[in-house]
Amino acid sequence: MSTFNKLNLKDEFVKNLDSLEYKQMTKIQELSLPHTLDNKDIIAKAKTGSGKTVAFSIPIVNKLDVKKFKIQSLVLAPTRELANQIAQEIRKLSRHIHNVKVLTLTGGVPFKPQVASLFHGAHIIVGTPGRVLQHIKEENINFESLNTFVLDEADKMLDMGFFDDIKLIIDELPKQKQSMLFSATYEEGIESLASFVLNEPIKVEVEDEE
Ligand code: ADP
Ligand code: MG
Repeated sequence: MSTFNKLNLKDEFVKNLDSLEYKQMTKIQELSLPHTLDNKDIIAKAKTGSGKTVAFSIPIVNKLDVKKFKIQSLVLAPTRELANQIAQEIRKLSRHIHNVKVLTLTGGVPFKPQVASLFHGAHIIVGTPGRVLQHIKEENINFESLNTFVLDEADKMLDMGFFDDIKLIIDELPKQKQSMLFSATYEEGIESLASFVLNEPIKVEVEDEE
């Protein structure tokens, strides 16, 4: 195990991680962060509870330019609950930066207030595919400054039939960006999803018994 100190993060960031009781990296963080902080695409597999949210959120927070009030990162998750958890984690991880706006866009809540929130602006969007696509179709979202894209729980997304929605969303994103795919399993379909989403990805796996 190694500490977050060796990653070249800003001192305030490491202090914030420390205050959140994130001192040692988990295995998946240790294996993925050197690459993802170097802006590389990644496909990462590790079981539930292994710290994948922190793994993909650190690069998002690290390259966030808070002065630029444009959407810079998009995270897609399979469920509303998960999207909210991820948004909360990113808010905690960015506490050392002022005025970071993380917006969740999921189904199961009214559409109009989300349109208003998008109009007011955000740095980071965490959403479910269906609702994000709906906002794209209504031209409520401007992704021209997006530099980071994450698919979390990719296996679950495929199980839930989100492949086509995800493809349609990716078509609307800038080609030049970092993409990260995280999953608990490599089931059928992940490879073809990965080949669609990722550009020369680094592959990282943590075996379940660890
Ligand atoms: P996964 O997405 O792999 O299922 P999570 O990202 O939800 O896992 O993390 C599981 C738990 O581990 C969370 O409570 C999170 O706060 C905690 N955690 C993540 N990274 C670390 C770390 N480096 N040190 C201590 N706890 C951590
Ligand atoms: Mg997770």
